[in-house]
Amino acid sequence: MTPTKLRVAIIGAGPAGLAAAIEFAKLSFVEVRIYEQARELREMGAGIGLSPNAWRMLDALGVYENLDKKDLFRPADGHLVQHRNGRTGELLLSHKQEGIPARYYQARTMRPVLQKALLQGVDGSRLRLSSRLLGIVEKPAGGWRLRFEDGFEDEVDLLVGADGIRSIVRRFVYPNYRLRYTGTTAYRALADTTDILSIPGFPDANTFWHGPYDRLYTCNLRNNVYELAARVRLTEDAAPVSWGQVASVEEVSERFKTFSPMLQRALAKIKVVKKYALFNGPRLPRVASHGSIALVGDASHPLAGEFGTGAGCAFEDAYVLARAVQWAYDRGYPIRDGLDLFDQVRRPHYHAMFDIVDGFAQSQISRQKITDFDDAALQILADEWSGGHHWLYTYQVEDVWRRAWKAEDGRRSQTTGVEDGDHDGSENGSHL
Ligand SMILES: Cc1cc2nc3c(=O)[nH]c(=O)nc-3n(C[C@H](O)[C@H](O)[C@H](O)COP(=O)(O)OP(=O)(O)OC[C@H]3O[C@@H](n4cnc5c(N)ncnc54)[C@H](O)[C@@H]3O)c2cc1C
Repeated sequence: MTPTKLRVAIIGAGPAGLAAAIEFAKLSFVEVRIYEQARELREMGAGIGLSPNAWRMLDALGVYENLDKKDLFRPADGHLVQHRNGRTGELLLSHKQEGIPARYYQARTMRPVLQKALLQGVDGSRLRLSSRLLGIVEKPAGGWRLRFEDGFEDEVDLLVGADGIRSIVRRFVYPNYRLRYTGTTAYRALADTTDILSIPGFPDANTFWHGPYDRLYTCNLRNNVYELAARVRLTEDAAPVSWGQVASVEEVSERFKTFSPMLQRALAKIKVVKKYALFNGPRLPRVASHGSIALVGDASHPLAGEFGTGAGCAFEDAYVLARAVQWAYDRGYPIRDGLDLFDQVRRPHYHAMFDIVDGFAQSQISRQKITDFDDAALQILADEWSGGHHWLYTYQVEDVWRRAWKAEDGRRSQTTGVEDGDHDGSENGSHL
Protein backbone atom coordinates (compact mmCIF):
# COMPACT_ATOMS: atom_id res chain seq x y z
CA MET A 1 0.00 0.00 0.00
CA THR A 2 1.24 3.48 -0.81
CA PRO A 3 1.07 5.54 2.35
CA THR A 4 -0.96 8.70 1.89
CA LYS A 5 0.68 12.03 2.48
CA LEU A 6 -0.40 14.62 5.00
CA ARG A 7 -2.37 17.17 2.99
CA VAL A 8 -1.57 20.70 4.17
CA ALA A 9 -3.37 23.81 2.89
CA ILE A 10 -1.84 27.19 3.59
CA ILE A 11 -4.23 30.11 3.23
CA GLY A 12 -2.43 33.30 2.22
CA ALA A 13 0.83 33.93 0.36
CA GLY A 14 2.26 36.78 2.43
CA PRO A 15 5.56 36.38 4.32
CA ALA A 16 3.99 33.83 6.70
CA GLY A 17 2.36 31.69 3.99
CA LEU A 18 5.39 31.68 1.71
CA ALA A 19 7.72 30.79 4.60
CA ALA A 20 5.38 27.98 5.70
CA ALA A 21 5.23 26.70 2.11
CA ILE A 22 9.04 26.61 1.98
CA GLU A 23 9.31 24.74 5.26
CA PHE A 24 6.53 22.21 4.55
CA ALA A 25 7.94 21.48 1.09
CA LYS A 26 11.03 20.10 2.89
CA LEU A 27 8.91 17.38 4.54
CA SER A 28 8.62 14.34 2.30
CA PHE A 29 5.45 13.08 4.01
CA VAL A 30 3.61 16.33 3.31
CA GLU A 31 1.71 17.46 0.23
CA VAL A 32 1.39 21.22 0.49
CA ARG A 33 -0.66 23.75 -1.45
CA ILE A 34 -1.01 27.49 -0.97
CA TYR A 35 -4.14 29.44 -1.69
CA GLU A 36 -3.99 33.19 -2.22
CA GLN A 37 -6.95 35.44 -2.89
CA ALA A 38 -5.00 37.95 -5.02
CA ARG A 39 -4.94 37.54 -8.79
CA GLU A 40 -1.21 38.22 -8.80
CA LEU A 41 1.35 38.47 -6.04
CA ARG A 42 2.14 42.14 -5.67
CA GLU A 43 3.37 43.53 -2.37
CA MET A 44 2.66 47.16 -1.72
CA GLY A 45 5.65 49.25 -2.69
CA ALA A 46 6.78 50.40 0.75
CA GLY A 47 9.63 49.35 2.99
CA ILE A 48 10.08 46.47 5.36
CA GLY A 49 12.65 46.16 8.12
CA LEU A 50 14.47 42.86 8.48
CA SER A 51 15.80 42.52 12.00
CA PRO A 52 18.51 40.02 13.01
CA ASN A 53 15.96 37.34 13.93
CA ALA A 54 14.39 37.66 10.47
CA TRP A 55 17.78 37.22 8.81
CA ARG A 56 18.55 34.11 10.82
CA MET A 57 15.25 32.65 9.73
CA LEU A 58 15.87 33.58 6.08
CA ASP A 59 19.06 31.54 6.42
CA ALA A 60 17.14 28.63 7.95
CA LEU A 61 14.53 28.82 5.16
CA GLY A 62 17.38 28.68 2.65
CA VAL A 63 16.49 31.93 0.86
CA TYR A 64 19.01 34.32 2.44
CA GLU A 65 21.11 34.47 -0.72
CA ASN A 66 18.04 35.36 -2.81
CA LEU A 67 18.20 38.89 -1.41
CA ASP A 68 20.62 40.98 -3.39
CA LYS A 69 22.85 43.22 -1.19
CA LYS A 70 22.39 46.11 -3.58
CA ASP A 71 18.67 46.17 -2.64
CA LEU A 72 19.38 46.35 1.11
CA PHE A 73 20.06 49.41 3.22
CA ARG A 74 22.39 48.71 6.14
CA PRO A 75 23.60 51.85 7.96
CA ALA A 76 27.33 52.45 7.48
CA ASP A 77 28.06 52.62 11.23
CA GLY A 78 26.14 49.38 11.91
CA HIS A 79 23.38 50.85 14.09
CA LEU A 80 20.12 49.01 14.58
CA VAL A 81 18.05 52.17 14.81
CA GLN A 82 18.54 55.81 15.75
CA HIS A 83 16.21 58.11 17.66
CA ARG A 84 16.12 61.87 17.22
CA ASN A 85 14.24 64.74 18.70
CA GLY A 86 11.79 65.60 15.91
CA ARG A 87 11.95 69.33 16.65
CA THR A 88 15.70 69.87 16.95
CA GLY A 89 17.02 66.86 15.03
CA GLU A 90 19.30 66.09 18.01
CA LEU A 91 20.46 62.47 18.11
CA LEU A 92 19.10 61.08 21.39
CA LEU A 93 19.95 57.40 21.09
CA SER A 94 21.66 55.06 18.65
CA HIS A 95 21.13 51.35 19.28
CA LYS A 96 24.15 49.25 18.40
CA GLN A 97 24.13 45.63 17.27
CA GLU A 98 26.75 44.20 19.57
CA GLY A 99 27.21 40.46 19.48
CA ILE A 100 25.22 40.06 16.27
CA PRO A 101 27.06 38.59 13.27
CA ALA A 102 27.32 41.21 10.49
CA ARG A 103 25.46 38.77 8.24
CA TYR A 104 22.36 39.30 10.39
CA TYR A 105 22.53 43.06 10.85
CA GLN A 106 19.27 44.93 10.56
CA ALA A 107 18.47 45.97 6.98
CA ARG A 108 15.61 47.71 5.26
CA THR A 109 14.37 47.02 1.78
CA MET A 110 11.33 47.33 -0.46
CA ARG A 111 8.63 44.81 0.36
CA PRO A 112 8.62 43.33 -3.17
CA VAL A 113 12.33 42.47 -2.74
CA LEU A 114 11.52 40.23 0.22
CA GLN A 115 8.52 38.76 -1.53
CA LYS A 116 10.58 37.89 -4.61
CA ALA A 117 13.24 36.21 -2.47
CA LEU A 118 10.64 34.06 -0.72
CA LEU A 119 8.83 33.21 -3.95
CA GLN A 120 12.07 31.88 -5.43
CA GLY A 121 12.01 29.27 -2.67
CA VAL A 122 8.44 28.14 -3.44
CA ASP A 123 7.38 25.56 -6.01
CA GLY A 124 5.02 27.68 -8.14
CA SER A 125 2.90 24.66 -9.08
CA ARG A 126 1.81 24.45 -5.41
CA LEU A 127 0.43 28.01 -5.43
CA ARG A 128 -3.11 28.74 -6.57
CA LEU A 129 -3.95 32.43 -7.06
CA SER A 130 -7.43 34.02 -7.27
CA SER A 131 -8.43 31.59 -4.50
CA ARG A 132 -10.28 33.42 -1.77
CA LEU A 133 -11.24 31.04 1.01
CA LEU A 134 -14.89 31.47 1.95
CA GLY A 135 -15.90 28.34 3.83
CA ILE A 136 -14.34 25.82 6.20
CA VAL A 137 -16.26 22.66 7.13
CA GLU A 138 -15.00 19.98 9.49
CA LYS A 139 -15.35 16.50 8.01
CA PRO A 140 -16.93 13.88 10.29
CA ALA A 141 -13.91 11.56 9.89
CA GLY A 142 -11.43 14.40 10.53
CA GLY A 143 -9.84 16.96 8.26
CA TRP A 144 -11.29 19.97 6.49
CA ARG A 145 -13.32 20.74 3.40
CA LEU A 146 -12.39 24.15 2.02
CA ARG A 147 -14.59 26.17 -0.32
CA PHE A 148 -13.20 29.02 -2.39
CA GLU A 149 -14.92 31.99 -4.00
CA ASP A 150 -14.47 30.66 -7.52
CA GLY A 151 -16.25 27.42 -6.62
CA PHE A 152 -13.05 25.38 -6.21
CA GLU A 153 -13.00 22.94 -3.29
CA ASP A 154 -10.25 21.05 -1.52
CA GLU A 155 -10.00 18.53 1.32
CA VAL A 156 -7.01 18.66 3.63
CA ASP A 157 -5.70 17.19 6.89
CA LEU A 158 -4.00 20.31 8.23
CA LEU A 159 -5.16 23.87 7.70
CA VAL A 160 -2.66 26.70 8.15
CA GLY A 161 -4.14 30.19 8.51
CA ALA A 162 -1.51 32.56 7.10
CA ASP A 163 -4.18 34.95 5.92
CA GLY A 164 -3.12 38.08 7.74
CA ILE A 165 -4.67 40.35 10.32
CA ARG A 166 -8.22 39.85 8.98
CA SER A 167 -7.82 36.08 8.89
CA ILE A 168 -10.88 34.07 7.93
CA VAL A 169 -9.27 30.97 9.46
CA ARG A 170 -8.97 32.77 12.80
CA ARG A 171 -12.62 33.85 12.49
CA PHE A 172 -13.56 30.20 12.05
CA VAL A 173 -11.64 29.23 15.20
CA TYR A 174 -12.74 32.26 17.24
CA PRO A 175 -16.08 33.42 15.79
CA ASN A 176 -16.46 36.22 18.36
CA TYR A 177 -12.99 37.67 17.80
CA ARG A 178 -13.07 41.38 16.92
CA LEU A 179 -10.41 43.79 15.67
CA ARG A 180 -10.55 47.42 16.72
CA TYR A 181 -9.11 50.62 15.30
CA THR A 182 -6.06 51.56 17.39
CA GLY A 183 -6.61 55.32 17.02
CA THR A 184 -3.40 55.46 14.99
CA THR A 185 -3.09 55.78 11.25
CA ALA A 186 0.12 55.11 9.36
CA TYR A 187 1.18 57.15 6.35
CA ARG A 188 3.79 55.57 4.12
CA ALA A 189 5.45 57.88 1.66
CA LEU A 190 8.25 57.55 -0.87
CA ALA A 191 10.65 60.14 -2.25
CA ASP A 192 13.82 60.08 -4.32
CA THR A 193 16.94 59.38 -2.24
CA THR A 194 18.83 62.02 -4.20
CA ASP A 195 16.22 64.61 -3.13
CA ILE A 196 16.31 63.63 0.53
CA LEU A 197 20.05 63.33 0.91
CA SER A 198 20.59 66.68 -0.78
CA ILE A 199 18.98 68.29 2.31
CA PRO A 200 21.92 69.57 4.38
CA GLY A 201 22.45 67.50 7.52
CA PHE A 202 19.83 64.86 6.71
CA PRO A 203 21.11 61.59 8.23
CA ASP A 204 21.33 58.57 5.93
CA ALA A 205 20.24 56.32 8.75
CA ASN A 206 17.43 54.21 10.10
CA THR A 207 15.76 57.00 12.07
CA PHE A 208 12.77 57.62 14.30
CA TRP A 209 11.92 61.30 14.81
CA HIS A 210 9.93 61.72 17.99
CA GLY A 211 7.36 64.31 18.91
CA PRO A 212 4.74 64.43 21.66
CA TYR A 213 1.94 62.72 19.71
CA ASP A 214 3.10 61.74 16.25
CA ARG A 215 6.28 60.15 15.02
CA LEU A 216 8.11 60.05 11.74
CA TYR A 217 10.39 57.33 10.47
CA THR A 218 12.85 57.78 7.62
CA CYS A 219 15.07 55.26 5.89
CA ASN A 220 16.86 54.65 2.64
CA LEU A 221 15.41 51.74 0.65
CA ARG A 222 18.17 51.77 -2.00
CA ASN A 223 17.63 52.10 -5.76
CA ASN A 224 16.97 55.84 -5.28
CA VAL A 225 13.92 55.24 -3.10
CA TYR A 226 13.67 56.87 0.33
CA GLU A 227 10.90 56.01 2.75
CA LEU A 228 9.13 58.45 5.06
CA ALA A 229 6.60 56.74 7.30
CA ALA A 230 4.45 58.50 9.84
CA ARG A 231 2.32 57.20 12.67
CA VAL A 232 -0.25 59.75 13.74
CA ARG A 233 -2.94 59.75 16.39
CA LEU A 234 -6.16 60.73 14.63
CA THR A 235 -8.80 62.62 16.57
CA GLU A 236 -11.82 60.72 17.83
CA ASP A 237 -14.08 62.12 15.12
CA ALA A 238 -11.81 61.10 12.21
CA ALA A 239 -13.19 57.88 10.75
CA PRO A 240 -10.57 55.22 10.05
CA VAL A 241 -9.84 54.92 6.36
CA SER A 242 -9.47 51.69 4.50
CA TRP A 243 -6.07 50.08 4.02
CA GLY A 244 -3.81 51.68 1.45
CA GLN A 245 -5.83 54.77 0.45
CA VAL A 246 -3.97 57.47 -1.47
CA ALA A 247 -3.41 60.55 0.72
CA SER A 248 -2.15 64.07 0.05
CA VAL A 249 1.30 65.30 0.99
CA GLU A 250 -0.31 68.26 2.81
CA GLU A 251 -2.29 65.87 5.02
CA VAL A 252 0.97 64.42 6.32
CA SER A 253 3.05 67.59 6.51
CA GLU A 254 0.25 69.35 8.41
CA ARG A 255 0.85 66.94 11.29
CA PHE A 256 4.56 67.76 11.47
CA LYS A 257 4.49 71.55 11.39
CA THR A 258 6.24 71.73 14.77
CA PHE A 259 9.01 69.39 13.61
CA SER A 260 12.44 70.53 12.40
CA PRO A 261 12.72 72.54 9.12
CA MET A 262 14.95 69.73 7.80
CA LEU A 263 11.99 67.34 8.08
CA GLN A 264 9.59 69.87 6.54
CA ARG A 265 11.90 69.97 3.55
CA ALA A 266 12.01 66.18 3.40
CA LEU A 267 8.21 65.93 3.54
CA ALA A 268 7.96 68.43 0.68
CA LYS A 269 9.93 65.98 -1.50
CA ILE A 270 7.34 63.19 -1.20
CA LYS A 271 6.25 61.74 -4.54
CA VAL A 272 3.56 59.34 -3.36
CA VAL A 273 1.82 58.71 -0.04
CA LYS A 274 -0.80 56.25 1.14
CA LYS A 275 -2.50 55.86 4.48
CA TYR A 276 -3.32 52.78 6.49
CA ALA A 277 -5.66 52.74 9.46
CA LEU A 278 -4.05 50.46 12.02
CA PHE A 279 -6.15 47.80 13.70
CA ASN A 280 -5.31 45.26 16.34
CA GLY A 281 -7.13 42.70 18.45
CA PRO A 282 -6.76 40.91 21.77
CA ARG A 283 -4.25 38.10 22.32
CA LEU A 284 -5.44 34.67 21.23
CA PRO A 285 -5.94 31.93 23.84
CA ARG A 286 -4.15 29.49 21.50
CA VAL A 287 -2.48 29.61 18.08
CA ALA A 288 -3.50 26.03 17.27
CA SER A 289 -6.98 24.57 17.34
CA HIS A 290 -9.10 21.47 16.62
CA GLY A 291 -5.90 19.37 16.52
CA SER A 292 -5.44 20.32 12.88
CA ILE A 293 -5.54 24.10 12.47
CA ALA A 294 -2.54 26.37 13.02
CA LEU A 295 -2.42 30.15 12.83
CA VAL A 296 0.81 31.80 11.69
CA GLY A 297 2.01 35.35 11.06
CA ASP A 298 -0.40 38.24 11.62
CA ALA A 299 -3.32 35.80 11.81
CA SER A 300 -1.85 34.51 15.08
CA HIS A 301 -1.06 37.87 16.71
CA PRO A 302 -3.09 40.76 15.32
CA LEU A 303 -0.86 43.73 16.13
CA ALA A 304 -0.39 47.00 14.28
CA GLY A 305 3.28 46.92 13.30
CA GLU A 306 4.43 48.27 16.69
CA PHE A 307 7.72 46.38 16.61
CA GLY A 308 8.56 46.30 12.88
CA THR A 309 9.33 42.61 13.12
CA GLY A 310 6.15 40.99 11.79
CA ALA A 311 7.98 39.24 8.97
CA GLY A 312 10.59 37.80 11.35
CA CYS A 313 7.83 36.51 13.62
CA ALA A 314 6.03 34.98 10.64
CA PHE A 315 9.21 33.12 9.64
CA GLU A 316 9.67 31.89 13.21
CA ASP A 317 6.11 30.56 13.18
CA ALA A 318 6.75 28.70 9.93
CA TYR A 319 10.03 27.31 11.26
CA VAL A 320 8.48 25.96 14.46
CA LEU A 321 5.25 24.73 12.88
CA ALA A 322 6.92 22.54 10.25
CA ARG A 323 9.32 21.10 12.84
CA ALA A 324 6.54 20.45 15.32
CA VAL A 325 4.58 18.53 12.67
CA GLN A 326 7.68 16.54 11.80
CA TRP A 327 8.42 15.94 15.48
CA ALA A 328 4.99 14.31 15.88
CA TYR A 329 5.27 12.38 12.62
CA ASP A 330 8.72 10.95 13.42
CA ARG A 331 7.52 9.65 16.76
CA GLY A 332 4.23 8.25 15.49
CA TYR A 333 2.20 10.75 17.51
CA PRO A 334 -0.93 12.37 16.12
CA ILE A 335 -0.35 15.70 14.37
CA ARG A 336 -2.48 17.25 17.13
CA ASP A 337 0.44 16.68 19.54
CA GLY A 338 2.78 18.54 17.22
CA LEU A 339 0.35 21.45 17.06
CA ASP A 340 0.15 21.52 20.85
CA LEU A 341 3.93 21.82 20.97
CA PHE A 342 3.81 24.58 18.32
CA ASP A 343 1.29 26.40 20.50
CA GLN A 344 3.44 25.95 23.61
CA VAL A 345 6.39 27.59 21.83
CA ARG A 346 4.70 30.43 19.98
CA ARG A 347 1.77 31.47 22.21
CA PRO A 348 3.95 32.73 25.10
CA HIS A 349 6.07 34.68 22.61
CA TYR A 350 3.04 36.54 21.34
CA HIS A 351 1.54 37.02 24.78
CA ALA A 352 4.81 38.67 25.80
CA MET A 353 4.49 41.02 22.80
CA PHE A 354 0.93 41.91 23.79
CA ASP A 355 2.18 42.65 27.32
CA ILE A 356 4.68 45.11 25.86
CA VAL A 357 1.96 46.79 23.78
CA ASP A 358 -0.20 47.08 26.92
CA GLY A 359 2.77 48.77 28.63
CA PHE A 360 3.06 51.21 25.70
CA ALA A 361 -0.64 52.10 26.07
CA GLN A 362 -0.19 52.76 29.80
CA SER A 363 2.83 54.99 29.29
CA GLN A 364 0.99 56.86 26.55
CA ILE A 365 -1.75 57.72 29.04
CA SER A 366 0.74 58.93 31.65
CA ARG A 367 2.57 61.06 29.03
CA GLN A 368 -0.56 63.07 28.31
CA LYS A 369 0.42 65.38 31.18
CA ILE A 370 3.66 66.38 29.40
CA THR A 371 3.13 69.37 27.13
CA ASP A 372 6.72 70.34 26.30
CA PHE A 373 7.89 68.86 22.96
CA ASP A 374 11.43 67.98 24.09
CA ASP A 375 10.33 66.52 27.42
CA ALA A 376 7.77 64.36 25.64
CA ALA A 377 10.34 63.08 23.13
CA LEU A 378 12.69 62.11 25.97
CA GLN A 379 9.90 60.42 27.89
CA ILE A 380 8.89 58.35 24.83
CA LEU A 381 12.46 57.09 24.62
CA ALA A 382 12.46 56.19 28.29
CA ASP A 383 9.04 54.51 28.08
CA GLU A 384 9.34 52.62 24.80
CA TRP A 385 12.91 52.44 23.58
CA SER A 386 15.10 51.79 26.58
CA GLY A 387 15.77 48.25 25.41
CA GLY A 388 12.83 46.50 27.06
CA HIS A 389 11.72 44.79 23.86
CA HIS A 390 15.06 44.46 22.08
CA TRP A 391 15.13 40.75 22.81
CA LEU A 392 12.51 40.40 20.05
CA TYR A 393 15.08 41.33 17.43
CA THR A 394 17.71 38.88 18.64
CA TYR A 395 15.29 36.11 19.57
CA GLN A 396 16.72 32.66 18.87
CA VAL A 397 13.66 30.58 18.12
CA GLU A 398 15.85 27.59 17.23
CA ASP A 399 17.00 27.33 20.86
CA VAL A 400 13.49 27.75 22.21
CA TRP A 401 12.21 25.06 19.87
CA ARG A 402 15.06 22.68 20.80
CA ARG A 403 14.37 23.09 24.51
CA ALA A 404 10.64 22.58 23.97
CA TRP A 405 10.87 19.30 22.07
CA LYS A 406 13.55 17.93 24.39
CA ALA A 407 11.43 18.76 27.43
CA GLU A 408 8.40 17.14 25.82
CA ASP A 409 10.41 14.02 24.91
CA GLY A 410 11.70 13.91 28.48
CA ARG A 411 8.23 14.28 29.93
CA ARG A 412 6.88 11.51 27.73
CA SER A 413 9.77 9.14 28.41
CA GLN A 414 9.14 9.50 32.13
CA THR A 415 5.52 8.45 31.72
CA THR A 416 6.15 5.64 29.18
CA GLY A 417 9.69 4.55 30.07
CA VAL A 418 10.64 4.88 26.35
CA GLU A 419 14.05 6.38 25.52
CA ASP A 420 14.10 9.94 24.15
CA GLY A 421 14.28 10.36 20.40
CA ASP A 422 17.05 12.53 19.09
CA HIS A 423 15.35 13.85 15.99
CA ASP A 424 14.29 17.46 16.31
CA GLY A 425 12.20 17.73 13.17
CA SER A 426 14.82 19.84 11.46
CA GLU A 427 15.55 17.53 8.54
CA ASN A 428 13.56 15.95 5.77
CA GLY A 429 11.20 13.13 6.68
CA SER A 430 13.06 9.84 6.75
CA HIS A 431 10.18 7.44 6.40
CA LEU A 432 6.60 7.27 5.28
C1 LIG B 1 2.43 50.07 9.47
C2 LIG B 1 3.10 48.75 9.52
C3 LIG B 1 4.49 48.69 9.41
C4 LIG B 1 5.12 47.45 9.48
N1 LIG B 1 6.48 47.40 9.36
C5 LIG B 1 7.10 46.21 9.41
C6 LIG B 1 8.51 46.12 9.30
O1 LIG B 1 9.22 47.10 9.15
N2 LIG B 1 9.09 44.89 9.40
C7 LIG B 1 8.33 43.76 9.56
O2 LIG B 1 8.88 42.67 9.63
N3 LIG B 1 6.99 43.83 9.64
C8 LIG B 1 6.37 45.01 9.58
N4 LIG B 1 5.04 45.06 9.67
C9 LIG B 1 4.29 43.82 9.83
C10 LIG B 1 4.27 42.99 8.56
O3 LIG B 1 3.78 43.75 7.49
C11 LIG B 1 3.35 41.83 8.77
O4 LIG B 1 3.61 41.25 10.03
C12 LIG B 1 3.58 40.78 7.72
O5 LIG B 1 3.24 41.27 6.45
C13 LIG B 1 2.65 39.62 8.05
O6 LIG B 1 2.71 38.68 7.08
P1 LIG B 1 1.49 37.65 6.94
O7 LIG B 1 1.90 36.73 5.87
O8 LIG B 1 1.12 37.11 8.27
O9 LIG B 1 0.24 38.52 6.51
P2 LIG B 1 -0.02 39.38 5.15
O10 LIG B 1 1.25 39.97 4.66
O11 LIG B 1 -1.15 40.26 5.48
O12 LIG B 1 -0.45 38.26 4.11
C14 LIG B 1 -1.70 37.62 4.20
C15 LIG B 1 -2.06 37.08 2.82
O13 LIG B 1 -3.26 36.32 2.94
C16 LIG B 1 -4.10 36.63 1.84
N5 LIG B 1 -5.48 36.34 2.25
C17 LIG B 1 -6.19 36.99 3.18
N6 LIG B 1 -7.43 36.44 3.30
C18 LIG B 1 -7.48 35.42 2.42
C19 LIG B 1 -8.49 34.47 2.06
N7 LIG B 1 -9.69 34.47 2.66
N8 LIG B 1 -8.21 33.54 1.12
C20 LIG B 1 -7.00 33.53 0.50
N9 LIG B 1 -6.00 34.42 0.79
C21 LIG B 1 -6.24 35.34 1.74
C22 LIG B 1 -3.83 38.10 1.59
O14 LIG B 1 -4.21 38.49 0.27
C23 LIG B 1 -2.32 38.19 1.81
O15 LIG B 1 -1.60 37.94 0.64
C24 LIG B 1 4.37 46.26 9.62
C25 LIG B 1 2.97 46.34 9.69
C26 LIG B 1 2.34 47.55 9.66
C27 LIG B 1 0.85 47.59 9.77
